[in-house]
Amino acid sequence: MQAVWPLGDGWRRGVTILERTDSNCMDHLWTPWRYAYVTAAETGTRAGVPHALAAWAGDLGCVFCNLIASIDFAIAGGMSAENAEAAGGLVLRAVHCFICLNAFPYTSGHVMIVPYTHLDHLAALPAATGHEMIELAQLTERALDRVYMPHGFNFGMNVGQSAGAGVAGHIHLHAMPRWTGDTSFITTVAETRILPEDLEATWRRLRAAFAALKTS
Ligand SMILES: [Zn+2]
Repeated sequence: MQAVWPLGDGWRRGVTILERTDSNCMDHLWTPWRYAYVTAAETGTRAGVPHALAAWAGDLGCVFCNLIASIDFAIAGGMSAENAEAAGGLVLRAVHCFICLNAFPYTSGHVMIVPYTHLDHLAALPAATGHEMIELAQLTERALDRVYMPHGFNFGMNVGQSAGAGVAGHIHLHAMPRWTGDTSFITTVAETRILPEDLEATWRRLRAAFAALKTS
């Protein structure tokens, strides 16, 4: 069976899901975000505005700017920061940047480190913002290590549409845990190694890990 696996940020791969005849070894590739992705695409929802935070009526034309604005609007209106940030997948706020979940994760634990400022070039980042991005990447490495115990990590940035950036106007650094064999698990191993958890579970685990690291 050939399926398109939406990975977000313009990354798409064809995934062949193998179904073994031995039911004891059958693997299930659970991709709960696909439903949300299709729904958002069909309804033309303002990009980055979570359903629970739709009371914010604006549209800044940017996933990340819309996300922060809708979260801040909800908090200003009386919603607890915990609930508003959970609804938006916002894991951590720092001074110049924030960390949020990728709504279309490549693996469980796929997060993005995003400056608050809408800038489309790395070179345009103020030094303090750039430094904080790397500090947050370091913190993210430790948090992902603690939660997912991966074999390695990817940290990556696509600058510009032709480089693969899904949100080309607002730079962001992807971070995700990786496991040996996870890129070619379909052809090289008999059993699927990754069972993506739902985004709410990812948010809870990473929120707690980042909070623990900040106070340790
Ligand atoms: Zn933006």
